[in-house]
Amino acid sequence: MSISKQILVTGGAGFIGSHLIDRLIATGADVLCLDNFYTGTKPNIYHLMDNVHFELIRHDVTFPLYVEVDSIFNLACPASPIHYQRDPVQTTKTSVHGAINMLGLAKRLKCRIFQASTSEVYGDPKINPQTEDYWGNVNPIGPRSCYDEGKRCAETLFFDYHRQAGLDIKVARIFNTYGPRMHPNDGRVVSNFIVQALKGEPITVFGDGSQTRSFCYVSDLVEAILRFMDTPKECPGPMNLGNPVEITISELAERIVEMTGARSQIVRRPLPQDDPVQRRPDISQAKAELDWQPAVPLEEGLSKTIAYFDELLSGTPAAKFSD
Ligand code: NAD
Ligand code: UDP
Ligand code: UDP
Repeated sequence: MSISKQILVTGGAGFIGSHLIDRLIATGADVLCLDNFYTGTKPNIYHLMDNVHFELIRHDVTFPLYVEVDSIFNLACPASPIHYQRDPVQTTKTSVHGAINMLGLAKRLKCRIFQASTSEVYGDPKINPQTEDYWGNVNPIGPRSCYDEGKRCAETLFFDYHRQAGLDIKVARIFNTYGPRMHPNDGRVVSNFIVQALKGEPITVFGDGSQTRSFCYVSDLVEAILRFMDTPKECPGPMNLGNPVEITISELAERIVEMTGARSQIVRRPLPQDDPVQRRPDISQAKAELDWQPAVPLEEGLSKTIAYFDELLSGTPAAKFSD
């Protein structure tokens, strides 16, 4: 694998970042993990603290950073609606100023840089599945805009640095991803439903539950990210990464109740503003360029995630969990 040796991962104490670091270290890389612990947690990286190939910096990407590395994965940004809406101005700053700083760093170092973009750039999409050439349907002034427009602007910056400064970029549009180390209180649907089911609390389906999402298990996503990072410079993306198996939120609730054996009732709550009605990636490009497609079926991924939260809620240290 041609991924270079000294690797910076921003947002490395988060859900996806910590899994990515595990894989990078397993391939023999030295990783510099940067995080301001806004949503990431130390337990996600405890198991790496004594590893000589791992180094941690507490830093906010909205401030300049001067380090020497061979490649950069930029994942720093709160990802769940309740977290990114808590301080929306900071969310936009993280996406936009963070991108500028990491791109400036990559420009000085002449190194490859990966951006964790999102399916949210498609907003509430009018086409299904979403292909990379779709420009999206995004509200610029709603409660989700700080995240959606911040990530869209970051994509603009990545492609302008690519065109203007010849930067070697990899922009991935990540679709809903789940697995161990999701934050139990981050409000995302998979973690919410599993935690509610395990506690015997009502399962909160927003709206009528007919909205759809397509859920990718974290190990599949990390594999795709690594393969993408290893493609030639002529393959900058944007590239959809996700699992194209689409499911309604009601069906997901039922599946989790069944799998946990919970006695929870399914209850309805109001649908948040601008909640996308449907979402499913067209992954033809990833299949062709990366020779990749998801390998973990929803049932298997959910059962690993349920086992993780079960141990977490019963007080067992969660750090040992990986893929
Ligand atoms: P997460 O919240 O677990 O991880 C984000 C990490 O970034 C956290 O550790 C957080 O503390 C850190 N962070 C936030 N603001 C920062 C700042 N200003 N400076 C430094 N660190 C900061 O979320 P995640 O699910 O692991 O998401 C990782 C990335 O992938 C994010 O950029 C997110 O937008 C993107 N993404 C995730 C999904 C998904 O389904 N999980 C989908 C699309 C895109
Ligand atoms: N930057 C950084 N580390 C570096 C180089 C740059 O954090 O090693 C930041 C710095 O804040 C700068 C931004 O990246 O303003 C953009 O850098 P660029 O060289 O593109 O533009 P500049 O603002 O320096 O003209
Ligand atoms: N959702 C839900 N109940 C919850 C949390 C979320 O019904 O407790 C719904 C939410 O309205 C959305 C879908 O599940 O339609 C996915 O939400 P999530 O916040 O996980 O991700 P995103 O909306 O960013 O795709």
